[in-house]
Amino acid sequence: MNLANLSSPCLSGSSRPREYCGIFGIYGHPEAARLTYFGLYALQHRGQESCGIVTGDGYQVRQHKGLGLVHDVFNQPALDNLTGHLAIGHVRYSTTGSTILRNAQPFVVHHGGETLAIGHNGNLVNAQEIRHRLEEEGSIFQSTMDTEVIVHLMARHFRKGLVEALTEALTGVRGAYSLVLATKDKVIGVRDPHGFRPLCLGRLNGSLVLASETCALDLVQAEYLRDIEPGEIVVLDENGLTSYKNLPPVPNKFCIFEFIYFARPDSLIFGHNVYQIRKRLGVQLAKEHPVAADLAMPFPDSGNYAGLGYAEGLGVPFEMGVIRNHYVGRTFIQPSQSMRDFSVRVKLNPVREILKGKRVVVVEDSIIRGTTSRTRVKTLREAGANEVSMVVSCPPTRFPCYYGIDFSSKGELIAAHKTVEEIRDYLGLDYLGYMSLDGMVAATQMDSQGFCLACFNGEYAVELVGDFSKTCFESCLAR
Ligand code: SF4
Repeated sequence: MNLANLSSPCLSGSSRPREYCGIFGIYGHPEAARLTYFGLYALQHRGQESCGIVTGDGYQVRQHKGLGLVHDVFNQPALDNLTGHLAIGHVRYSTTGSTILRNAQPFVVHHGGETLAIGHNGNLVNAQEIRHRLEEEGSIFQSTMDTEVIVHLMARHFRKGLVEALTEALTGVRGAYSLVLATKDKVIGVRDPHGFRPLCLGRLNGSLVLASETCALDLVQAEYLRDIEPGEIVVLDENGLTSYKNLPPVPNKFCIFEFIYFARPDSLIFGHNVYQIRKRLGVQLAKEHPVAADLAMPFPDSGNYAGLGYAEGLGVPFEMGVIRNHYVGRTFIQPSQSMRDFSVRVKLNPVREILKGKRVVVVEDSIIRGTTSRTRVKTLREAGANEVSMVVSCPPTRFPCYYGIDFSSKGELIAAHKTVEEIRDYLGLDYLGYMSLDGMVAATQMDSQGFCLACFNGEYAVELVGDFSKTCFESCLAR
């Protein structure tokens, strides 16, 4: 999370929710950097703005970071320079204005003869408050990232040892964090006590691997061992793995949005396969909203797997009524005014022969701002669809997320200001149905008490602190 954004409007310009980061770590492999590079490749969906790898060889720490995708930032010479038997890596998504190199991670600091690197997935809700206090006491910050406060807090306790310093720092911060840290001879993995964000552990022959999602373990051919537990600190070094549970236990609050939208469908998240859960969400959606339709379709790729489940549950054909152009970059030259809605049309093109004269039900995973969905619905009608309905595999997203997802203000959430009927009207739909909260949780077949559902029900497990709620929340609401 970029602290600079807390005093500015929070829109990222995207109509889709975005994850903030993905992390990877490996200890005990002569090609640690190369495997981390592949691990980051698998995690690219969790962040596309910047990335970095830090390695250690027992004597020295090396780093390479840059703005852009993994294949843009790293080349053969860069990887050849990253020698060492341990590495951590990070892919980052940031909101507008914060895409600067000094905010790329892993964040590296030198203190008392030791070099420490840290990569963070999540968001700290009291970082602003801690930063103000530390700055008043003389600390000089190098970035605008919340992650940096962890390092400053650790620095005050380094003489006690690495794990003790980390424990002291984490006792002071609140919010969501899965972390990988590296020194010249250790890799450390941490999950916050609520376990908001995922972090798993794998083994590749004699090496140990940490990753946000198991798809990264698969790519480097590591075997999934288990998840890092909420509140657990694991140290990977010449002694193997040592686990510490120094942080006070609190109830689990796994982010259910990882299942609905963020994580890759081939991953295990919180120990459960994302594809299967998305498909069950679709089956449940068919029970709750059995729309009379000729076909069910997604707007690819969101809604693909819930769409399969919905079509199966309803007994209607599943069709790809629009085709996605996979070669559209994040930025492209905008055409003239006469080509309205170009940015939506360039990504998805309707298949008229499939849609013409049909009653179509679109299966979506979520509706955040609604602007993109509105244009897409219009293109379906223009392509000849007789009726266009939409079913959504989660309840209305009415509340901001402060735990590492980019809809951090109520102002950007359509469901915070409109009823379902008003949203249906705005999107130009014949019917709109959202999944119930109970139905969504039941479809996961996991402990119903173990989820964060704050963006749906407003029940925040970790309360907001000070400036975060005031600056971000109010500036967005005031727009
Ligand atoms: Fe996930 Fe929503 Fe909770 Fe944020 S508020 S952590 S998106 S469930």
